[in-house]
Amino acid sequence: MSPTITAFEVKDIRFPTSLNGAGSDAMNVDVDYSAAYIALHTSDPALSSYGMTFTIGRGTEIVCEAIEQVAARLIGKDVEGLFSNMGETWTFLVSDYQLRWVGPEKGIIHLATAAVDNALWDMYARARKKPLWKLVADFTPEEFVKSTAFRYITDMITPEEALEMLKAKEAGKKEREELVREIGYPAYITSAGWLLYDDEQVSRLTKEAIGRGFNHFKMKVGADLQDDLRRAKLIRSIIDNPANLSPGKVIDPKSIEGKNAGPTGSVLMMDANQVWDVQEAIDYVIQLAPTKPWFIEEPTAPDDILGHAAIRKALKPYGIGVATGEHAHNRMIFKQLLEANAIDVCQIDSCRLAGVTEILGVLLMAAKSGVIVCPHAGGVGLCEHALHLSLIDYICVSGTMERNVLEYADHLHEHFVAPVTLNTNGRYNVPNDPEQGYSTHMKDSAFEEFGFPDGAYWKSVAEGKPKAVLM
Ligand SMILES: [Mg+2]
Repeated sequence: MSPTITAFEVKDIRFPTSLNGAGSDAMNVDVDYSAAYIALHTSDPALSSYGMTFTIGRGTEIVCEAIEQVAARLIGKDVEGLFSNMGETWTFLVSDYQLRWVGPEKGIIHLATAAVDNALWDMYARARKKPLWKLVADFTPEEFVKSTAFRYITDMITPEEALEMLKAKEAGKKEREELVREIGYPAYITSAGWLLYDDEQVSRLTKEAIGRGFNHFKMKVGADLQDDLRRAKLIRSIIDNPANLSPGKVIDPKSIEGKNAGPTGSVLMMDANQVWDVQEAIDYVIQLAPTKPWFIEEPTAPDDILGHAAIRKALKPYGIGVATGEHAHNRMIFKQLLEANAIDVCQIDSCRLAGVTEILGVLLMAAKSGVIVCPHAGGVGLCEHALHLSLIDYICVSGTMERNVLEYADHLHEHFVAPVTLNTNGRYNVPNDPEQGYSTHMKDSAFEEFGFPDGAYWKSVAEGKPKAVLM
């Protein structure tokens, strides 16, 4: 008999990353990587699952409240019934009319839906004893289409068209799965270039990153032009110096095509976290052009589709592209970004889009547009999620990982039961544990220490004697 969903627990967890400047950028200065987290329980004591959405501190309690409201709709539901049509299940989750009013499909209510949908997919994968990417990779094209949220995007891609695209990729799936298991999924590193890191720290972390096999590096920009130019030149001086190359590192020229790579094949990316108006973005980035960035990420307001298109057009002669998506709050924003030719790189976020069901639609639209997907993953748990999504994109949808790079940031992986790992070539290892689901399960010890407000660390802060922590 199929289990039913019987209970859930919602938790607020905050890591004091602001203590050392990790996560700092031009918009977000004191960032405490946080999560609004849900554990879903069923009538089968062996089947529970976990989901979360990413936040950066204050306000997480509001998302937790919204999760309670969304998750309450699942109580009493038969899990096999939910799994049998994940597209319909998702539509059910976003169709409470009263809750829709406080969105619809954006803002806090959508973040909450993300946590719940992520937990449902985690449960589906756990129930089938497969990591999430493998569950989806083993879907037939029909099952994939049935699991996708198509409402409001059928003017760009219909289920029938999606089916044809997926069928065309069927033949190579096995081969791609074998290849990525062998060589890993390509990654880039963000954690060497946080805005508040000093030059010595940037320099040391960049050299370390080269040693770990990375050849794509991202830095934060937008607070001060002269400061950005100095830091960009510093990073370029390290990554372009053949003496710093890791021995035996071979870079496929196709993997860096069109990316403004330097003489050693190293690629520099820049992220402004929405600080500029449109013309300001154009003027500012042109001044950074001598340091040869591949793209500028989030140059302006995330909802400004036409603004992104204007920036992309103006920067094209400089060989600089535009990337965005971590604050694109639903599939319709991606539809417009893609249709308006506003982006070179599509940065889906596993916790801002409302879970896997909505993301599958964006993967299909990006593939149809020929735009590469490089998920946002700078935050707690995001690398863990995003790796599954990139593997689904590669194996089932786009069929390529040549130019893709998935973000990697060093922080907080130790708090997960099944954290991501990298190989010595700076690529993600493919998750392979049949019990790991969507890799969203956080350890109990994380909540004991950093649960908010009752974890040991936050209690010590409230008492005016903050415990020392290593972040
Ligand atoms: Mg970013």
